[in-house]
Amino acid sequence: MFLASRNAKKIEEMRRILDEHLPGIEVLGLDDVAAYDEPVEDQPTFEGNALLKARAGVEATGLPTLADDSGLCVDALNGMPGVLSARWSGPPKDDARNNRLLLDQLDDVPGHRRGAEFRCAVALCLPDGAQQVTTGEMRGRIIRELRGSGGFGYDVLFVPDDQDGELTAAEMTAEAKDRISHRGHSLRAIAPVVADLLRS
Ligand code: IMP
Repeated sequence: MFLASRNAKKIEEMRRILDEHLPGIEVLGLDDVAAYDEPVEDQPTFEGNALLKARAGVEATGLPTLADDSGLCVDALNGMPGVLSARWSGPPKDDARNNRLLLDQLDDVPGHRRGAEFRCAVALCLPDGAQQVTTGEMRGRIIRELRGSGGFGYDVLFVPDDQDGELTAAEMTAEAKDRISHRGHSLRAIAPVVADLLRS
């Protein structure tokens, strides 16, 4: 199985979640295969971009390929930054600069209007042309100061709803985040399809 992603933190999360459901599965990353031209993520949806990346991966490697596309959709910003999350504050990708921009954009937005959700689409593409996409969400809200040192991206500003406490995603253990995360939901939905594929 090939995982078409360059984001080391994302790969780590995906390997961990897949391993729980498909123990022993061998997962290769972009650094383990010969370099190829990676597609520009120019689709307007997470599903479209995940499919683009997975299709390019299967074409380049001939291996069953999984790719994810994800981002943060903020209610008060009409769903922005969405598919633009990684490079919202401009290239090169910089999480700290993105987080400052998010705080600035929401500066005058009151607590009850700071709702947001992470979304993730995972695409599986097979050498025979078959494909499947699953999606997952994690609802929460954006706080006013950075908290925590785990996770990545916007985790330091995001307090998920689906927990007993008030931790940011960057303060949760990796396992606690996986249980409720957009990536966890979408990968657990695709895991049985991958398992069937590996059995056949
Ligand atoms: P892409 O899927 O590589 O296009 O980028 C996704 C971007 O969305 C990341 O670079 C982060 O900025 C943000 N993002 C996606 N998932 C998470 C998450 O679990 N925590 C924090 N930020 C995330």
